[in-house]
Amino acid sequence: HRCRSGLTVGEFDAKVALESGIKKNKRLQRHTKGGFVFSCPHCVIYGFHVMLRGESPRDPFTVLYTRLNRRDLPLYLIHDNACKLRAYAMRREPAFFADVRFLVDRFHFHHTTAEAHKCGPSYNTDYYDSVRWVNTSAVESCNAFLVKFKTQAWHSSLVAFMIILPNQVSGRNSALLRVDEPKLRIAGRADTWRPSVRQRLLMY
Ligand SMILES: [Zn+2]
Ligand SMILES: [Zn+2]
Repeated sequence: HRCRSGLTVGEFDAKVALESGIKKNKRLQRHTKGGFVFSCPHCVIYGFHVMLRGESPRDPFTVLYTRLNRRDLPLYLIHDNACKLRAYAMRREPAFFADVRFLVDRFHFHHTTAEAHKCGPSYNTDYYDSVRWVNTSAVESCNAFLVKFKTQAWHSSLVAFMIILPNQVSGRNSALLRVDEPKLRIAGRADTWRPSVRQRLLMY
């Protein structure tokens, strides 16, 4: 059977599929809306996520929920928008995030501008002994590093950038040994580090 276009059903479907495929490719984004990194308090970047839309609590939620097992989640998660992130996570996967303590970093919590956090003391790192001596703004130095690739990200395709960025991040992480050496004594004893970090930084 042929329709008015003179094509068989199979040919018509193939044509429609081809056309919608072209449209999809056209809409495929060429550039990122920025990178989102996860780091420990010693500025080691554990992973990154390339955002295709503006940043929202969906970004950290998706990464933690889809890439980690529940038992590998951090006990303390510090984020400049931790209160919104906690609400977002608890509405969707309360059991998965049950053991995670969401805290706002000191800098953003004590901000006195219009964006000041009024979400209450439970997000204040000052009330938690375990994070008292922790640098809660460690990730900012990672951001300063990532900003350097802004131009490169704009001029390379998204696919190429996804290959370049992990290499840059790995290079930076392995170069951290020299940066951290004088601070090792105050950063914490190496035998208390996670084995993977110890292997990465000390090669044993
Ligand atoms: Zn660390
Ligand atoms: Zn808040």
